Amino acid sequence: MFKLAIRSTRLAPRSTYIFRSLATASSTSPNIPATQKAIVFDQHGGPLQYKDIQVPKPGPNDILVNIKYTGVCNSDYHIWKGDWAIKPQLPLILGHEGAGVVVAKGENVSNFQIGDHAGIKWVNSTCQSCEFCQESHESSCPSQTNSGFSVQGTYQQYCLANADQAAHIPKDVDLAKAAPLLCAGLTVYKALRNANIRAGQTVAIIGAGGGLGSLAVQYGVAMGYRVIGIDASNKKEHVLSKGADAFVDFSSKVGVPEQVLELTEGKGPHAVINVSNSVQAYNEAITYVRPTGTVILVGLPQGGAKLESDIVMQTLRAVNIKGSVVGNRADTREALEFFRRGKVDSPVKIVGLSEAPDVFKLMEDRKIMGRYVLDTSK
Ligand code: NAD
Ligand code: ZN
Repeated sequence: MFKLAIRSTRLAPRSTYIFRSLATASSTSPNIPATQKAIVFDQHGGPLQYKDIQVPKPGPNDILVNIKYTGVCNSDYHIWKGDWAIKPQLPLILGHEGAGVVVAKGENVSNFQIGDHAGIKWVNSTCQSCEFCQESHESSCPSQTNSGFSVQGTYQQYCLANADQAAHIPKDVDLAKAAPLLCAGLTVYKALRNANIRAGQTVAIIGAGGGLGSLAVQYGVAMGYRVIGIDASNKKEHVLSKGADAFVDFSSKVGVPEQVLELTEGKGPHAVINVSNSVQAYNEAITYVRPTGTVILVGLPQGGAKLESDIVMQTLRAVNIKGSVVGNRADTREALEFFRRGKVDSPVKIVGLSEAPDVFKLMEDRKIMGRYVLDTSK
């Protein structure tokens, strides 16, 4: 006791003061309202209600972000429908592509200041100490929390995020275009890295016209690969405008494997990344990927979907099949940096937050090209 009392009167080293002053500097901006608009649902596939709810208060390790824009990912649609074996807590606010401004922070937060631009991703927090976190595979942490799934997401004007996992968005980056990079951009950048191919080699992107696909084509080109985009015929122009070297129409009478083999001198692409929900497309990819090549699993079909692979052929052709889920904090920073440097564009269509149900309808009808982003002020 006595020892402690004496120690507390001693001057702390200068670095400690700097640390504390950062951590306790203005922790709330004025004018945070008590209530806000959000999209909430309380049963799977049920109404997406645009309504007033309380603005949450940050815990010690949180930042409160005034979300300006939030992307609509196909995963949000699956989560709303309850398509997967794992289910969220209800009622739920969806969203994991939120970009905005930090307006409050908890007492332990020193890496964000009020007024900084921040991004909220699928991985909201991790334990930071398991073997996966230690090796930077944060998206495999068994204790992770996920935005718009196990914690409330970004289809609201004010959203909480764990400060360690939240992304720093440089101030010269457009927040509407940054939003989709926090899931779609990050995920495809990581998937391309996981494909482990070299500049000049060929990658086929299945679902090239959608939110993830439109970015995958561009990151692939920026990383030096030859890109074959695969999607429905109405998306051909869009996919080619994003830089794809060739387009394959999956709805054509000629099968996708035949078309892709024709474009690759009968050898197949070095990697195939499937960002569609199609199980058939997965199973075909295993047959036409080049021997020793890699099929990357990104698209998440309905729960229970199975891969079918001829074991002997897969073994003799030495085909790799690899799952890829979002990416870590370094991947996030790098994915944003490609955009900041003008190496990829983020093709967005901006509509109001209240229009989220209409966007889901377009998604159902496969009419989406690029990414829809919700403006939370409308
Ligand atoms: P989206 O609806 O914007 O795009 C999907 C695209 O696939 C559409 O353009 C559609 O026309 C196309 N498509 C459908 N069937 C096809 C087929 N047989 N062949 C070729 N193209 C086909 O969806 P999105 O937001 O880009 O998400 C895509 C998938 O990725 C979803 O399943 C989503 O849940 C998943 N996802 C996974 C991760 C991860 O970390 N693994 C992260 C984000 C999203
Ligand atoms: Zn997503």
